[in-house]
Amino acid sequence: FIGNVHGDEPVGREVLMQLAYWLCDNYLKDPLATLIVENTHLHILPSMNPDGFALRRRGNANNVDLNRDFPDQFFPNNDDIKQRQPETRAIMNWIKQEHFTASASLHGGALVANYPWDGSRDTRKQYYGCPDDKAFRYMASMYSQSHYNMSLSKEFEGGITNGALWYPIYGGMQDWNYIHGGCFELTLEISDVKWPKASELLVIWKQNKMSMLNLVASLVKTGVHGRIFAADTGRPIPGSLMVKGIDSKINASGTFGDYHRIIAPG
Ligand SMILES: [Zn+2]
Repeated sequence: FIGNVHGDEPVGREVLMQLAYWLCDNYLKDPLATLIVENTHLHILPSMNPDGFALRRRGNANNVDLNRDFPDQFFPNNDDIKQRQPETRAIMNWIKQEHFTASASLHGGALVANYPWDGSRDTRKQYYGCPDDKAFRYMASMYSQSHYNMSLSKEFEGGITNGALWYPIYGGMQDWNYIHGGCFELTLEISDVKWPKASELLVIWKQNKMSMLNLVASLVKTGVHGRIFAADTGRPIPGSLMVKGIDSKINASGTFGDYHRIIAPG
C-alpha cells in the first residue's frame, strides 16, 4: 500500500497507520490478521510525498505531480532520467527490487476503485482495458464491495472504474507498476473529502478496513503461485508464467524463483 502520493490527499497515510496498528494488535487473535501476517509480505508506505504533505499541496518539493512522473507506455514525456523526481525513482527501484504481486495507492477527493489502463493510446476518454482486465475488475470489486458504501456509488457502477474511462492520465504509477513490475496496482480513491476533520479519520479507517484486509487476503487465495527452479541444483532459473488467452506474462523472481499470478476466479 502506498499512501499520500499527492501531498494534499492525507487520508491514505492516516488509514495506513491504522492498518499497521491493527495488524500488529490482532496477529494471533484475529484469523484475517493471522492469515495476512503469515502468508504475505505486506509493505506499507504511508507517505510517498512527505514534502507535498508538509506544504499541503499536490506536487512534491519541486511541485511535480508524482503520479504523472513515471515513464509512459504511449508517450515519451517522462523518458529523461535526469528529470525524474527522487520519489519516483525510489518507487521504481523498490518495485523492481521487491517483485510485488499487487499494490494499491491511496488517494482522496473521490470514492472509487480505479484499475488499468489509466491512459488510452489516442488520448480519448474511453474504456481501455489491459490484458488482465478480468483480474483487475475482480480486485477492484473486492475493494468496493467490502467497503462501507463505495459500491453504492451513483457516479461509478459498482464503485469501480477503468482509469481511462474516468479520465485518461499519462505517466501514472499504476500502469508502470503493472507493465514493468508485474505488479497489479489499483488506484483507490478512499474519501470524497480531501481534508476531513481529525475526528473523522477513525471512521474512514473503519469504512475501508475490510476492503484493505480482504484485498490482501484475496491475493493469498486467488490465482496460481509456485517456484521455477533447476531440478538438479534447486537454484532459481529465469522463467515466466503465461496464461492462455491473456496477453501478459509474470516473471518469477530472481532471488527465490517464486511467482504469484493473480487470476480472477471462474
Ligand atoms: Zn491523488
